[in-house]
Amino acid sequence: MYLEMNHIFKSFGDGENRTEVLHDITCGVEEGDICVLLGPSGSGKSTLLNILGGIETVDSGSVCIGGDELIGLDEKGLSRYRRRHLGYVFQAYNLIPNLTVRENIEVGAYLSDRPLSVDELLRVLGLWEHRNKKPNQLSGGQQQRTAIGRAVVKKPDVLLCDEPTGALDYKTSGEILKLIEDVNEMYATTVILVTHNDALRRMADQVLRLRDGRILENTRNAVKTGAADLEW
Ligand code: ADP
Ligand code: MG
Repeated sequence: MYLEMNHIFKSFGDGENRTEVLHDITCGVEEGDICVLLGPSGSGKSTLLNILGGIETVDSGSVCIGGDELIGLDEKGLSRYRRRHLGYVFQAYNLIPNLTVRENIEVGAYLSDRPLSVDELLRVLGLWEHRNKKPNQLSGGQQQRTAIGRAVVKKPDVLLCDEPTGALDYKTSGEILKLIEDVNEMYATTVILVTHNDALRRMADQVLRLRDGRILENTRNAVKTGAADLEW
């Protein structure tokens, strides 16, 4: 497995305020797959994603990506890992307001040793005509496209998406999910897609389902039909 999580335990708080959020998570994700991480609100999805992203610690357990152990790296090692391997897309686009679309994407290429062509990416994203606009001149879908561009321009091995369509209408959500599929195919990017929406299992190679911090389901999807065919 390209991405391996072994016996991850995670809690927040101390003493009687201590809550266990992840309980003995062990699973793997194949390189180049789309893994849809499902579960209701509060089930631990974002916490697990943040652990994979090196922005949250664990109580115990290990995480390996491409054979490299992530847990125990110092801040320098973590930031190198994030820069080399990871793209992150959130529900809130977190764009820099006074930069243009093109400049926001270029920010993602900073310090990358193998960036994609920004011109090519602007076309793939459907943002060529909007490249000189500022975020407040864009629709929600266009802002999310820009955020995906910023995450993808460094050609990450893994794209972590946390409820990327949470703020969008159905039609725009479908377009954004299709774009994430295109990125997965074009650049062989491994995708972890967090959602509470069960319909998205149709675009998964692998479905992981959490409840109360435990894995309820870890299955291969034999009937992947893709985002183009989603029914909401
Ligand atoms: P999901 O993304 O599935 O909605 P989260 O991973 O955000 O779930 O949260 C899982 C649980 O952990 C929730 O009960 C949440 O309140 C708790 N939690 C998340 N982050 C923190 C934190 N920084 N401090 C304390 N509790 C947290
Ligand atoms: Mg969440």
